[in-house]
Amino acid sequence: MLDVIKLLPDSVANQIAAGEVIQRPASAVKELMENALDAGATQIDLVVKDAGKSLIMVTDNGCGMSETDARLCFERHATSKISKAEDLFAIRTMGFRGEALASIAAIAQVELKTRRKEDEVGVKIVNEGSVVKEQSLTPMQPGTTFSVKNLFFNVPARRNFLKSPQAEMRHIIEEFTRVTLMNPEVGFTLTSDGKELYHLYSGSLKQRIMGLFGSNYAEKLLPVNQDSERVRISGFIVKAEYAKKTRGEQYFFVNKRFIKHAYLHHAIENAFMEMIPKDSFPGYFLNIEVDPSDIDINIHPTKTEVNFLDVKLVYAILHAAVRKAIGQHNLSPTIDFTETPDLNIDFGEVSRASRPLIMPKVPVDESYNPFKQTTSNQEFKPKWNDFPQHRDKPSGDWRQLYGERVDQPDINKGVETETVDDPPANTQYLQVNQTYIVTTVKSGILLIDQHLAHTRVLFEKYLKEMENHSGASQQELFPQALSLNMNDASLLKELQPELENLGFVLEQANPTTFMINGTPSDSAGCDAVELLEKILDNYKINRTDLQLDRKLNLAKTMAAQLSIKAQTRLTEPEMQNLVDQLFACNVAEIAPNGKKIYVIMSVEDIMNRFG
Ligand code: ADP
Ligand code: MG
Repeated sequence: MLDVIKLLPDSVANQIAAGEVIQRPASAVKELMENALDAGATQIDLVVKDAGKSLIMVTDNGCGMSETDARLCFERHATSKISKAEDLFAIRTMGFRGEALASIAAIAQVELKTRRKEDEVGVKIVNEGSVVKEQSLTPMQPGTTFSVKNLFFNVPARRNFLKSPQAEMRHIIEEFTRVTLMNPEVGFTLTSDGKELYHLYSGSLKQRIMGLFGSNYAEKLLPVNQDSERVRISGFIVKAEYAKKTRGEQYFFVNKRFIKHAYLHHAIENAFMEMIPKDSFPGYFLNIEVDPSDIDINIHPTKTEVNFLDVKLVYAILHAAVRKAIGQHNLSPTIDFTETPDLNIDFGEVSRASRPLIMPKVPVDESYNPFKQTTSNQEFKPKWNDFPQHRDKPSGDWRQLYGERVDQPDINKGVETETVDDPPANTQYLQVNQTYIVTTVKSGILLIDQHLAHTRVLFEKYLKEMENHSGASQQELFPQALSLNMNDASLLKELQPELENLGFVLEQANPTTFMINGTPSDSAGCDAVELLEKILDNYKINRTDLQLDRKLNLAKTMAAQLSIKAQTRLTEPEMQNLVDQLFACNVAEIAPNGKKIYVIMSVEDIMNRFG
């Protein structure tokens, strides 16, 4: 019998391996740009033709290579980045394994020009399908240019597998974006078929984001900065009001490498919960810095996955960081900085018992109260500005309708006082189907869902009361008893401080029975036992393992239970009062459950109906 096993020729082996590293033009773009960064370049220019199919050229002003290195760099496992065994760790984290250039050369015609500062001339090498075709000296500036021509020229199956030029170009732009975002101190350009698409100057991360996504992005960003013992989070989130209907700019990096992480994405979505509509997505540009020994990046260079040894901790810190950023912007009245996430972090098999567990410390500005419109908040604009028809109808005592918020002087900062002080008198309010409030605004017709509007108003009110311990209470003439099972009783006990801040007065009669001696003053006409049972039920359903959201949870349930329902007749003053209160809220647009509270039918919409 003949032996049947044969060794694959190197060229075939290289092509197969190449297919894993270089799946499409964008993968070559990424590898070449990362190499240029590793070479210490401060300016990197990318030129592509036919969406990278006929040309990908990366020019850098980095350290360059010697003649020998220029030949060697195309060899498999040729890397200058690992020399000692300990460096093997770097392979795992940074993906250095000397494979990218060998892979690219196996499946393309590559021309390399490179010169070190100390050399007088550069060297040019042409490598086609892993074979050196040409080597010569060439005059050039210090630095390196890789030109990758006719990618997959010798792998027709791959070449045919490529998507449309538009799709491949999108992939290239996406890789370009990921690499450039985390290296704002380096200048970049991207030119496609002779047209310069990006010209990014060296600068801050914020400037880089503006360079990539448009200069109007600056006003949309909120800075995020969170330092803790083991995790550092920095970057920007996009303000809630700019959330997009499509998954827009969502960029997570771990130690500056782009990753995808559904669980951590959830931490951000969750932090935005009450502020963006259900069908919209938050935007973010965040770098999570951790000790490399706390993560495990899949060694595969094209993978964008990473495992954290203690992902719950990262989740909690990320969640807190985003909420803090939102809170400081004062869009959210819901931040509770004093509560430490209640986590049971399990370090699992790794013997970390010796390492003390450091809980994330969220630095707290004790004096910060998200409800106070203090000088720190210049971005708050009175919502009435959106409703200009109210401006020219002065009268009356409408101020009380707004409660204390309006009386705070700083609210008017930067806005002409009249616009705020203009009372919405004489306004016509109609009710449709005893469910929707209708009124006119300058731009058209405003339609408000009365139940959702009132839910938002109460939600913010309850949060504020819990914060300020200021819930008004009414005494029950005949205290009711609330009997619970052991589980619910201990839950109620846990919630008791917050419930009392809301106006409940509870007294534990025995391990499973509570006497309800007082109830929140605006729960009149509502069965207190039923209300507390509802609160417990909802609390159990919505409780996250983080328990960051206890107050949110309570406020949401109370608001949902006690708000005006659909099919309830309202008088005109009641409607006016509700509308006023709604637009005095921090977030008037979205109900705590993520639903839109109002819609505006523009004059144009109306006109079109008659079209
Ligand atoms: P790795 O980046 O994992 O080391 P590559 O195949 O991407 O492997 O590159 C091989 C080697 O070629 C690098 O380690 C580096 O020494 C050299 N090299 C590649 N690109 C450049 C560049 N633009 N400037 C200087 N040296 C480079
Ligand atoms: Mg490399």
